[in-house]
Amino acid sequence: MILSVKTTGRTEMIDITEEVHNAVRSSGLEDGLCMIYVPHTTAAVTINESADPSVAKDLLMVLNQIVPWDAPYQHAEGNSPAHVKTTLVGSSELVSVQQGRLVLGTWQGIFFCEFDGPRSRKAHVRFLSAPRP
Ligand code: ZN
Repeated sequence: MILSVKTTGRTEMIDITEEVHNAVRSSGLEDGLCMIYVPHTTAAVTINESADPSVAKDLLMVLNQIVPWDAPYQHAEGNSPAHVKTTLVGSSELVSVQQGRLVLGTWQGIFFCEFDGPRSRKAHVRFLSAPRP
């Protein structure tokens, strides 16, 4: 399944937990793994606290501090900071699925991370079924 993600800011974290939950439900997978993969070089995916939206804001603040927009980058497109943040955060997450549900902690959410928006993006959601005992 491919999720479409429309981003509205240059740097942004979008909670896609509900969309991934829905993908698991419609897959019918009972026991196995769910992979979320972002096929972009300036966007990423991560799992972190979704209960308090300030956490995502703080993560973006720190990423913007450690990877400044203004630096002597060589990449002519001008979006090197977005490429660097993507590598720091990563392109995929793997979440266990048990009894047809994503195994996430109480405070955990899955975030699509935009680092060079706004753009129309994709997140691929794939499943691997555990062997039956
Ligand atoms: Zn680039």
